[in-house]
Amino acid sequence: MAEKAKTAEEIAKEKRQKELAKELQATKERLRYSKRQIASVVDLNKCIGCQTCSIACKTLWTDDEGRDYMWWNTVNTQPGSGTPKDWEKMGGGYKVRFEGKVREPIKGKLPTRDEFGEAWKFNYEEVHKGSSQTTYLKPIGKEPEWGMNWDEDQGGGVFPNAFYFYLPRICNHCTYPTCLDACPRNAIYKRQEDGIVVVDEKRCKGYRFCIEACPYKKIYFNRKDVLGQKCIFCYPRIEKGVAPACARQCPARVRWVGWLDDVQGPVHKLVKKWKVALPLHPEYGTEPNVFYVPPLAPPRLDTTGKIDILKPRIPLRYLEYLFGPEAGKALTTLKAEMAKRRNGQPSELTEILIAKDWKGMFKPFDKDPLSLTWTRGKKG
Ligand code: SF4
Ligand code: SF4
Ligand code: SF4
Repeated sequence: MAEKAKTAEEIAKEKRQKELAKELQATKERLRYSKRQIASVVDLNKCIGCQTCSIACKTLWTDDEGRDYMWWNTVNTQPGSGTPKDWEKMGGGYKVRFEGKVREPIKGKLPTRDEFGEAWKFNYEEVHKGSSQTTYLKPIGKEPEWGMNWDEDQGGGVFPNAFYFYLPRICNHCTYPTCLDACPRNAIYKRQEDGIVVVDEKRCKGYRFCIEACPYKKIYFNRKDVLGQKCIFCYPRIEKGVAPACARQCPARVRWVGWLDDVQGPVHKLVKKWKVALPLHPEYGTEPNVFYVPPLAPPRLDTTGKIDILKPRIPLRYLEYLFGPEAGKALTTLKAEMAKRRNGQPSELTEILIAKDWKGMFKPFDKDPLSLTWTRGKKG
């Protein structure tokens, strides 16, 4: 059957729709453009799960009403359900096709407040005034059912091959942020000078499409101010040459910060030269700018209790699930460089990872925050 001819009105409407789609694409490209990209590397072999990073961020940025339940920096035990609970099953991100030329958004779920965990209130008054024999510290109000660090140290595997490791997470300041694409107000953009992804709070109307779209579930809804809010990579500190609080306060020297294109810097060397630092869930298609050195682990024990050096304690398929197909190669490189060092040979890679010079982990963001003047009176 012959197709019905389009009316002039329909043709004009189609044309206008195409023009609008083109304009929107151009706007989004402008919003995601940055001249340089700041990035971070986290070594999972050194993280001790102390949560100093989480507290550093909380006391600096999210200790007020509306933000009190937010943890822009989270540290979860892997394997685990994470924060928000089961975030890896919530969708979002892109399906990448034609070698990155096409990114089709994948629909995501909006996590509930319970899946994040509330800002619990505690019975401090009762504990201070009561008898130490009968009162103890406990949350008051609704019984908590989940929280930022709920399944700490539970891990996975079966005895005697149980295992766990810690996974610190912040916003990835992605090269292709789905949050930015999803915002109908064009309120999310990458800062041109450093690629940090921020929410323009004057434009944001709290629609929460960004939260659904982010596959890492790293944007939070502020009920009080009706806004989306997220990690800002401590840009007021970055602008003054100071590393983000979560990185600088880490007692285990786990986190590097620097320009991704600085070929002399440790971030570039770990990611691009040695290729031991990998993005989390690269298949989400957003090109994260936070990278992880995957964890090594003791060898597996066989059923008789003997060491089976051929089988890793942490299954490689689990590390590939988290960090993509390059995880095995990264572990091989790490092991080879560690062996070189044990044999007394020089190893640039292990020298970087040991991080004897902690200030060198942040160059050029290595200034002492206490040596500077801060207009808003906050430093960390
Ligand atoms: Fe502690 Fe550093 Fe790990 Fe954070 S990243 S939990 S501060 S060791
Ligand atoms: Fe946006 Fe999520 Fe990427 Fe952060 S991690 S830039 S919130 S898509
Ligand atoms: Fe918080 Fe700054 Fe770390 Fe982001 S970079 S999680 S804002 S401390």
